[in-house]
Amino acid sequence: HETFTIGTAWSAEDGAARARDLFAERIGGTPDGVWAAPGRVNVIGEHTDYNNGFCLPMALPHRTYVAARRRDDNQVVLVSQLGESVVSWEGSVDQIAPGSVDGWQAYTAGVAWALREAGHQIGGFEAALVTCVPLGAGLSSSAAVECSVGLALADLFDLGLSDSEAGRTDLVNAARAAENDVAGAPTGGLDQTASLRTTEGHALLLDCEDWSVRQVPFDLDAAGLELLVIDTRASHSLVDGQYEARRRACEDASRILGVASLREVSDLGAALAALDDEEMARRVRHVVTENDRVIQFVELVDAGRIREVGPLMDASHDSLRDDYEVTCPELDTAVDAARAAGALGARMTGGGFGGCAIALVDRDVRNEVATQVVKAFHDAGFTHPDLYVVSPGPAALRVQ
Ligand code: ADP
Ligand code: MG
Repeated sequence: HETFTIGTAWSAEDGAARARDLFAERIGGTPDGVWAAPGRVNVIGEHTDYNNGFCLPMALPHRTYVAARRRDDNQVVLVSQLGESVVSWEGSVDQIAPGSVDGWQAYTAGVAWALREAGHQIGGFEAALVTCVPLGAGLSSSAAVECSVGLALADLFDLGLSDSEAGRTDLVNAARAAENDVAGAPTGGLDQTASLRTTEGHALLLDCEDWSVRQVPFDLDAAGLELLVIDTRASHSLVDGQYEARRRACEDASRILGVASLREVSDLGAALAALDDEEMARRVRHVVTENDRVIQFVELVDAGRIREVGPLMDASHDSLRDDYEVTCPELDTAVDAARAAGALGARMTGGGFGGCAIALVDRDVRNEVATQVVKAFHDAGFTHPDLYVVSPGPAALRVQ
């Protein structure tokens, strides 16, 4: 018989206590406060962000917690509990720059650099980080850590960025700059926007052309539904050639089609006819149809027809598999097994080539779906997947 456990997120109290304990143990004394920022899952709208298109992320209940204290000098002390080990870094705030910090420090100290680059006064500080967001699974532990540190610094140094849309947009940009310029990961801002600008109980319709957002009520519970996240644990890295190659194909296609971005393609048939390269045409077809699916998805949810979104999720996955070619055997297996076991819809989420799939399921078939996914992984000889049931949590906030 196939066994599984459903992983749960820490409560705010638990996360804050863990961060305070690590702070007391490794840094000493009491922090000025504790901040938390969530990872995210993208419900639909994949590889649309860098094409100025639409996506629909929601904040996870899984969050990174940072206990932090301001210092009077320029010294920075960072510690982070990563699984069983604690990593640490100490240096001067002026020495943090692209090239001078790497690895996990780029995602943490890098935010201080980005805020200083944007003209903010940031001095020394001490921070202890703990997280229940799985690392490297495609659930954006990177944005969770950047945004928790960013929000903590904003409050510690009175930058006035925490409580307004404009301020939070500045924090998104700083977190993204840390990821792009310090960590060297060419990601598009979707993750940081989800972490900083969502609302509990809502998914976020994000228009990546102007970064405007709309909160979309996404009450799965009221509809008797659950969102099952399946971490395939297949290897996943955005800092590699595939992501760049897809971006380049989209840019090249835009140039050939004479549009600023694929967002502007209104006549798909004409666009496909204008492209000689068959592979490039399929890339374009994914992006254009995926943008449509996001809009249709939101229309259904807005109309109270949340139970009818399944086929859009299925079509999204099939397009990512066949046209965009960013799935992998583990993702396809998870999605196929979930659908066969009665999920309303299932798709890969995130950049692809591993990471997570999501399945929208009736509450009372969730265990059967989970069982069948685990069985399919076992039969195929894949690593045991990790499973989570999630609902939309709050954006980054000060918890204590
Ligand atoms: P994902 O965002 O999908 O989890 P990424 O590769 O984008 O995967 O980011 C993972 C990296 O982010 C980790 O390898 C680590 O460097 C950094 N990171 C994430 N969470 C933390 C944390 N709590 N403390 C320190 N570094 C973290
Ligand atoms: Mg990431």
